[in-house]
Amino acid sequence: MPHVITQSCCSDGSCVYACPVNCIHPSPDEPGFATSEMLYIDPVACVDCGACVSACPVGAIAPDTRLTVEQQPFVDINASYYPDRPTDKKLPPTSKLAPVIPAPQVHRGPLTVAIVGSGPAAMYAADELLTQHGVRVNVFEKLPTPYGLVRAGVAPDHQSTKGVTQLFDRIAQHRGFRFYLNVEIGKHLSHADLLAHHHAVIYASGAPNDRRLDIDGMGLPGTATATEVVAWYNGHPEFADLPVDLAHERVVLIGNGNVALDVARVLTADPDELAGTDISDHALKALRASRVQEVVIAARRGPAHSAFTLPELIGLTTTAEVVLDAHDHDLVRRDLASVSDTLTRQKLEILSKLGDGSSPATRPRIRLAYQLTPRRVLGGQRATGVEFCVTGTDEVRQLDAGLVLTSIGYRGKPIRDLPFDDVAAVVPNDKGRVIDPGSGRPVAGAYVAGWIKRGPTGFIGTNKSCALQTVQQLVDDFNAGLLAEPISRPSALDKLVRARQPDAIDAAGWQAIDAAEVARGGDGRPRNKFTSIADMLAAAASAPAPPLRQRLANRLREFA
Ligand code: NAP
Repeated sequence: MPHVITQSCCSDGSCVYACPVNCIHPSPDEPGFATSEMLYIDPVACVDCGACVSACPVGAIAPDTRLTVEQQPFVDINASYYPDRPTDKKLPPTSKLAPVIPAPQVHRGPLTVAIVGSGPAAMYAADELLTQHGVRVNVFEKLPTPYGLVRAGVAPDHQSTKGVTQLFDRIAQHRGFRFYLNVEIGKHLSHADLLAHHHAVIYASGAPNDRRLDIDGMGLPGTATATEVVAWYNGHPEFADLPVDLAHERVVLIGNGNVALDVARVLTADPDELAGTDISDHALKALRASRVQEVVIAARRGPAHSAFTLPELIGLTTTAEVVLDAHDHDLVRRDLASVSDTLTRQKLEILSKLGDGSSPATRPRIRLAYQLTPRRVLGGQRATGVEFCVTGTDEVRQLDAGLVLTSIGYRGKPIRDLPFDDVAAVVPNDKGRVIDPGSGRPVAGAYVAGWIKRGPTGFIGTNKSCALQTVQQLVDDFNAGLLAEPISRPSALDKLVRARQPDAIDAAGWQAIDAAEVARGGDGRPRNKFTSIADMLAAAASAPAPPLRQRLANRLREFA
């Protein structure tokens, strides 16, 4: 029986190269890889060896005999990517493997690179660089804890996705890798400081801001952005005190991307089930006291233009109660009659089978609503609802709500000393090389990867090919002698960091925080996160001094 890729597919392509019969597509060399919602196993060509299972960093692949009920729809989803073929006879395995994109080859002496940020783009870039002998990578992260949105963005009920941190931990153990956590570039160190100690800097700082909806009433108590709520329930220290008022029956989410689905699922989940995850204590407590009975996800366009992906829609509808009102079911039928694209049809078919919003609710539920363009948030002292117009008409609809969350995407923020494209909210770049828009020439030594390079789209693994492309440009420039030699020794960087940020945390400090969080989780939870910087620093301070052998190795590394 074939293997099947399921909801948590991160699209990093590791499984593609592990497959001995090239039956996983699209592969990174194929068109559509960067935009595909997931990867798919050809059930006819699969030889059921299971090599892909061990290669997948997020546990998304299983034999079809071991799928949970919720994962069953992925059998058809995988198969439907491929043309119809006889299923009674397996095709002979092809000997042609997916062409491996070669790692960039460093042809000159040791290369030292600073990476700003420690999320997926940063870690995949470090991984690519460290395939080369003699490369050193220093990763700078503003928070005392690494891994960016994997820690603070992935929903707590998606623990298998968070499993990618095991891959990142392994990358961080490479002898050429060094963490400088709790160190903010732009505050403790400047771009010039980094360039003085490295040949190049890769900014992988993501898109930390939200796109803001400019309508009256946003900003009233009872309004926030979905990404703030995500950071709140994930225990991000800057959002631990976010006022999330769950004392009213309805929450309205504006926008229907995957972030909106995550938030709606968490707000309607059984708190006892969330209690077995790494959700923050403050969020769990608030959810236990929640009076929310309905979360409405309001999209301005019709069902065929839903921004959520098919795997996430399947995940939502198999774990939560999701309904549509009668007029939205009409819109689904209308779109089904006119849409031919397979993926869109698959989404519409799922929507068409959802229950009716007029049926009595038995538990907190989610309602998908369409053709609603937000006009203003209602309320005086605080939000009491949202006024929409039916898109393309003057018809007004009002929805009462105690909490109004916009979920209209993330937004990159300018990086000090680098150019910024304010419209696209990215650093202008050519395949990762930062470009000065005035001269049209590369900014020496500056590179970008991830969302600050290409905008806030894609999945965790999309950052692997994105980072590879950036590293290729950087290594080409290094090989061509275009990058200035750092002016000081590695030991000088340590001294500089300590002088500017005495509370900088290294890998041992992070391991101590990690171990303390896991211990706090006890038997029932993967971890219980610290949500204050002071607690993180206290845990990091308990890190044992490195053994003498390692200290000597570090000294040798500094003078190498
Ligand atoms: P998104 O997918 O870009 O969705 C944004 C939503 O906001 C769309 O429905 C969009 O509608 C709507 N919108 C934009 N401007 C609006 C306006 N002025 N008024 C009303 N609605 C507006 O953003 P996201 O949900 O933040 O996700 C960001 C990225 O992270 C995506 O690539 C997503 O797949 C990824 N992600 C993945 C996962 C996962 O795989 N589990 C989880 C979270 C996030 P229009 O389409 O009409 O513009």
